[in-house]
Amino acid sequence: METEIVKVNHRCVSPEEERKLRRAGEILKAGGLVAFPTETVYGLGGDAMNPQAARKIYTAKGRPSDNPLIIHIGHFEDLFEIVKEVPAAAARLGEVFWPGPLTMILPKAEKVPYETTGGLETVAVRFPSHPVARKLIEYGGGFVAAPSANASGRPSPTSAGHVVEDLSGRIDMIVDGGPVGIGVESTIVDLTEGTPRILRPGYITQEMLEDILGPVDIDVTMMRDDSGQAPKAPGMKYRHYAPAGRLVIVEGEPEEVVAYINAQVLADSRAGERTGILGTKEQFGKYHADVVKCIGSREEEESIARNLFSVLREFDDEKVTRIYSESFPAQGLGQAIMNRLLKAAGHSVVNLRNREE
Ligand code: AMP
Ligand code: MG
Repeated sequence: METEIVKVNHRCVSPEEERKLRRAGEILKAGGLVAFPTETVYGLGGDAMNPQAARKIYTAKGRPSDNPLIIHIGHFEDLFEIVKEVPAAAARLGEVFWPGPLTMILPKAEKVPYETTGGLETVAVRFPSHPVARKLIEYGGGFVAAPSANASGRPSPTSAGHVVEDLSGRIDMIVDGGPVGIGVESTIVDLTEGTPRILRPGYITQEMLEDILGPVDIDVTMMRDDSGQAPKAPGMKYRHYAPAGRLVIVEGEPEEVVAYINAQVLADSRAGERTGILGTKEQFGKYHADVVKCIGSREEEESIARNLFSVLREFDDEKVTRIYSESFPAQGLGQAIMNRLLKAAGHSVVNLRNREE
């Protein structure tokens, strides 16, 4: 299959761009697959109400079929069509955070196919804010199932180029709306049981949710791999985001971290490894390795979230075999950053603060 790539301006106002997005919408309505930008990462869209389209998404990504898809809507009212009930908490969250990077888990309405929910009785719903995504959802029939548009297991795509790398030849169209703004996937909050629970941290933080709802839990498996429990979001149990090289996160005082990483890199280089370092702007100049990447500034956490996945992909492009990363405080947006980094590292962390002298 040949994948058509169409460029649209971020604001997609011109008649020419309207025409392109209408055509993309027709592809979705006919059961085809279209990748498109959202404010979080690029999504791989298919008609959420068409079981055949859902199956195609799993095949194109190489995604296990028990890993459910998020349904994207273009109007708040459309939520009522695909869920059994809208609890007060969902209505309040929708009012405050939609359109935006928040996904809610609710009991599914009968008409939502099990192919879309991975066999579950619940459904994940998001109303994105990106203008291109909103138009496409409207033109595509109103209910677009869209997981991240990466090949399963790879870092999520934050540019159309990343989608081309992973899915070219496997889907009908890629809508290129430029690089995304946030860079980590939506926060997923489960509203189907007692206390609301975060199943995947994202840009909407635990604190922001608690301001609206009161106490909100977070799935313990998000930041630890020794809890002995399975994550509630099926997708979070799979190896994910991982670069080809082995990634180790190093935690400690900044100067100690620099010294430790440089020493490890030296030893690895002598052993014939190709080395990489993922550092912040504040420490960047002090590192020595084959490939040193600046992920952003500690003063601006948003920049770290935005660059994380593309930097992980760049290490693959550079064929790096050993990677060391600084660590980040797991609060606020840092919770999402550390969750993705820990998964990418397979929870391999060296904590210099706990080491015996
Ligand atoms: P992605 O589409 O790549 O952003 O991943 C979607 C995530 O949402 C995966 O981790 C899924 O397991 C999770 N998810 C989707 N639907 C549900 C649901 N009904 N219950 C729990 N998790 C879900
Ligand atoms: Mg994904």
